Amino acid sequence: MSRLPTFAIGGIHPPENKITAERPIEALPPPAQLFVSVSQHIGKPAEPLVERGAAVRAGQLIARASGFVSANVHAPMAGTVKKIDSVPDASGYRRPAIVIDVAGDQEWESGIDTSPELAADITADGPGIVEAIATGGIVGAGGATFPTAVKFSIPEGRSVDTLIVNGVECEPYLTADHRLMLEEAPQLIVGTRLLMRALGVNRAIVGVENNKPDAIAHLSTTLEEAGPFPEGRIEVAALKVKYPQGGEKQLIQALTGREVPSGKLPLDVGCVVSNVSTAIAVYHAVQKGRPFVERIVTVTGKGLREGRNFRVPIGTSVQALIDAVGGVPDGTAKVVFGGPMTGKALTGFTVPITKGSGGVIFVDESEANRGHVRGCIRCSRCVTACPMGLEPYLLEKLVNAGMWDQVEREGVLDCIECGACSFSCPSNRPLLDLIRLGKAETMARRRARS
Ligand code: SF4
Ligand code: SF4
Repeated sequence: MSRLPTFAIGGIHPPENKITAERPIEALPPPAQLFVSVSQHIGKPAEPLVERGAAVRAGQLIARASGFVSANVHAPMAGTVKKIDSVPDASGYRRPAIVIDVAGDQEWESGIDTSPELAADITADGPGIVEAIATGGIVGAGGATFPTAVKFSIPEGRSVDTLIVNGVECEPYLTADHRLMLEEAPQLIVGTRLLMRALGVNRAIVGVENNKPDAIAHLSTTLEEAGPFPEGRIEVAALKVKYPQGGEKQLIQALTGREVPSGKLPLDVGCVVSNVSTAIAVYHAVQKGRPFVERIVTVTGKGLREGRNFRVPIGTSVQALIDAVGGVPDGTAKVVFGGPMTGKALTGFTVPITKGSGGVIFVDESEANRGHVRGCIRCSRCVTACPMGLEPYLLEKLVNAGMWDQVEREGVLDCIECGACSFSCPSNRPLLDLIRLGKAETMARRRARS
């Protein structure tokens, strides 16, 4: 059997624990209240357009993008604006949010097609597609939350030849994208065609790790039945299972052999990467006029009797998801928002689901225990694991010593915060915590210099 492609350096194999891979997507019972953050994307917060007491329809624009790197925010459900408040995000920071009391009867904004019929005929041209993506408030749903319309607005004089669709979902436990590839393949294909048109490329590759053979087979069959397409060729590529293959730079290298240099973007090697959930959100925005108002969230953990993949209105609290699975299971040491490798441990459950939230994971005592921190034994396992070619043990030392110039010279800003170094350290050193601190300090120093 031929070897499957993967990225060249580093990487680890954490236990997969994809417990919910067989659980079909199901609708969450409607929550009573939504906490819709106006800052659920990278860039400037959106500006609220509604006031306390206003009646809103599902899909109505309630906060407008403010500036180039920003994104529109829409009411995920119909109801009444209770207040404009601030709610804690997963990091514990309070963010402005529009609180909506959900109505019993759901009325959608006019012009939004909520029917399940597939809309496969594409009439919009590239600029029209980018405009519809911006109008719909689409951002990277894989967690990056970068506004998609900005990513797909290619600057004058630059060119792209390949669209990469990220179906890797390399984080343990998460299965939201896996289920989408199985259950919404036709929508994913139309979304991919739209993104190809927006970029003006005739090649797209959907990268999927080989631990999802059902998704690879289903996508391949659906593509064969639906094609050929006027936009060009869409391939499905099976990849070797290795974390963090979902990182943009790692995925580009695995699929095209191209290396994105330090400090550069995928665009610099002719690629743009988009997550499968994002591509499906693009389908809804462009073909159905439906903005980004819901997403799939995996709620899982070893202690849970039944993990689930829920379709969740944006702004639903983590508490509502916990209630839907019967409460926090016994033996849970922490509840993680996102994947276990890159997610954040929650300090409270009022945190709302945002456009980039793919999972709520109940981590038990055995998994949560970081173990006693011992001295570095210079085994270099962290170096071997790092997919960015960094020396995590050295970065930790330099950060501890406050040697900021050297921290920057050692490439701290190249760190993608995958956590592979911390995972591999036999001495349980808090490498990523210190490296994050080093990144924040380096960014602050750069800002002060400019
Ligand atoms: S968290 Fe950063 S330093 Fe650690 S392995 Fe990942 S990229 Fe390398
Ligand atoms: S893996 Fe841990 S013990 Fe080994 S070199 Fe890195 S920091 Fe030191």
